[in-house]
Parts: sequence; C-alpha cells; structure tokens
Amino acid sequence: TVALYVVATPMGNLGDITLRALEVLRDIDAIGCEDTRHACRLLDHYDIKATTFALHEHNEREAGAKLIGLLREGKSVALITDAGTPGISDPGAHAVAMAQAAGFQAIPVPGPNAAIAALSASGLSDERFLFAGFLPTKPMARRAEIERLKPVAAALVFYEAPHRIEETLDDLVALLEPQRQIVIARELTKMFEQIVRLPLTAAPGWLQADENRKRGEFVLIVSAPPPHEGLDVEAERVLQILAAELP
Ligand code: SAM
Repeated sequence: TVALYVVATPMGNLGDITLRALEVLRDIDAIGCEDTRHACRLLDHYDIKATTFALHEHNEREAGAKLIGLLREGKSVALITDAGTPGISDPGAHAVAMAQAAGFQAIPVPGPNAAIAALSASGLSDERFLFAGFLPTKPMARRAEIERLKPVAAALVFYEAPHRIEETLDDLVALLEPQRQIVIARELTKMFEQIVRLPLTAAPGWLQADENRKRGEFVLIVSAPPPHEGLDVEAERVLQILAAELP
C-alpha cells in the first residue's frame, strides 16, 4: 500500500538496523532525510540506491507538501533522521500529521531510540518514566522546566548535547531532591559508550573528573522522586504549628 514509512535508523553503530527497515528502504520510491549527506553514509553502506530529498525542521512544511505530492502520485515514501527514531526530538511529527490529514497511513518501522536504549540498560526501567527530551537552552526557562517536572512521580529522561551537559547537571543537582539517582548514558552503541549510575549529587564531580566524559551525546535518567516527601514535609510543618498552639 502507498504509505509513509517512519523508519528508525542506527544512532552510532551501523549494524543497528532491522531487516525490515532495509527491505523498506530498498523498495521505497523516495526517502525524506533530515540530512541527505548523512543519510548517504547509511544508504551507501547497505548499497541502497534511492531517491532522497531533504526534510528537516527548517523545511518541514514545504518538504511535507512535496511528500504529499509523491503519495498522491501513488509513490510510497520513507522518513529517516540522522539517528534513531524520526519524530522523537527530531523532525517527523509534522510530516506524519500532514500525511494522515491527506488520508495516507503512517507505518512505523521500529528500531533504535536513544531514550529507550538508555532506559533498558539503566536499571530504572521498572519505574514509570517521563520522556522530557531536551531541556530549554535558556537558564531561566530550563530551571522553570525542571521545577515543573520535579513532583512528577516517574523517572525523568532527558536528552543533552555535550556543550550543555555541565550546566544541565548543575541545575538538576540544585533543584531536585538529593536522594535521587542519575544514570548518565553517553555515546550509546558507539566505541566510547559509557553508562554510569550515581547519586544525583555526585554527577557534576563525575563529569569534572575526566575531560573525555563531557564528549559525545547524552541521555540522562533521573530516578523518581522519593515517595511522599512533599506530603511528609507538609505534614511535619502542620504538626509543628499545631504543637506550638497546644497547651
Ligand atoms: N531521534 C533520536 C532518537 O530516536 O533517539 C534522537 C535525536 S536528538 C536530535 C539527538 C539526541 O539524542 C542527542 O543529543 C542525545 O541526547 C540523544 N542521542 C542520540 N544518539 C545517542 C547516542 N548514541 N548516545 C546517547 N545519546 C544519544
């Protein structure tokens, strides 16, 4: 059937692509790529000769219109991004919504995703989790967002880039409960993959201990807040007030 195939691709290790993804990319009429040059590396490696066109956050509307045009001509289209699953902190949502609005199906071809890969090896995956993606880059907005997420009864999953990892860890330590744990997963599936689990308060020190640790791409997972802490503190405060009033 003519459809938009949303295809997950490797996030570092070229081996991380499913047989079905390769089949779809081989059979497809055109591939919308976040970066066509980046996509070439993958497509060349697997000897896939397909027509590609750029579909990224700065042209998602125009490229979306092109995509709909192809679907209307009876051509199936695949969507890939530079790493992992399209639409997850990546372009794709708009194109999918456009295709669906035009009456076409979006068919997922699942595979790598940094958040899920990190969670699976974090030891925190038995908790509920909230995928928060990238925090805002401006300090005030970033801190406000962390405050907003603080009471959520779930592990928090963040994406972060190397140039902001330091300030993000500092803000998480400053604003979240010191009892929480953090899992720092960097360079997943790549040569210098590293996954460590630390008390949240130890995270900045861990990062400072070795310049190499600031390199690469990061997934941060902060364990859920300590149970009922808010309630206990409030109850204690009320008790103190009452106790002071009692004869
Ligand atoms: N769509 C992708 C996915 O499915 O995970 C995410 C793309 S987003 C633009 C890029 C961010 O994902 C990076 O800044 C990092 O936080 C995370 N990421 C991507 N590849 C990674 C890897 N190999 N190791 C750790 N984090 C990674």
